[in-house]
Amino acid sequence: MAIFITKPVTCPKCAQNSDTAVMISANTAEDADVRQKIFDETIFRWKCKKCGFSTRYQHPFLYNDIDRKFMIYLIPHVARPKVVDQKLEDEFTDMRDVRKRIVPDINSLKEKIAVFERGIDDMALELTKLAVSDVVTKETGHNVYAGYYTDMDEEKNSISFQFFVGGDKRSYIQTTRLEVYKRSRDIVKRYFPKENRKMGFLNIGMSWARSALEKYKSSGSGIDK
Ligand SMILES: [Zn+2]
Repeated sequence: MAIFITKPVTCPKCAQNSDTAVMISANTAEDADVRQKIFDETIFRWKCKKCGFSTRYQHPFLYNDIDRKFMIYLIPHVARPKVVDQKLEDEFTDMRDVRKRIVPDINSLKEKIAVFERGIDDMALELTKLAVSDVVTKETGHNVYAGYYTDMDEEKNSISFQFFVGGDKRSYIQTTRLEVYKRSRDIVKRYFPKENRKMGFLNIGMSWARSALEKYKSSGSGIDK
């Protein structure tokens, strides 16, 4: 069953305080439409009862896909590399087989779900994304603000990302060959084999990819071998 808590929310438009029921966790086995509610953001919509103002309300949310064995914990703006929730570890005793991730925002939650559903290794994906984002920075002359996986096509031998670049966060689609992902997967298997079985929820995003790449480089292996 989905778990709700009541939270006082102040309307940013009319300043009215109201208690709001917020869904803080759900699993796909008991709530078949929870995935849809994340992708259309129903779970994160908030509407003022007084003035009708509606906005995106980003709040903590735990997504549990029991069949595919992954849990993704949205903790808004989380920057820590890992979060250990002892209560959760105690509650789900067989959690060591489950991939557990924390994400800092709704877009990353959607991305992580799509990535795990497609059977993609998210660590290899983040290494690929980092390499591709460097290409985007070179091509556009702007820094990459954020980037998300959009599609993998085995027939076309390609993997695609949507980046947001520059001060105005313009959308920029960049595709690369699957070999880049496959090579990244080999690196993960060889140099980070135990990361996946650790206790706690890992933050596997671009910061992780940057430090992983540093570790890999300092291990004495050239990235282009
Ligand atoms: Zn209002």
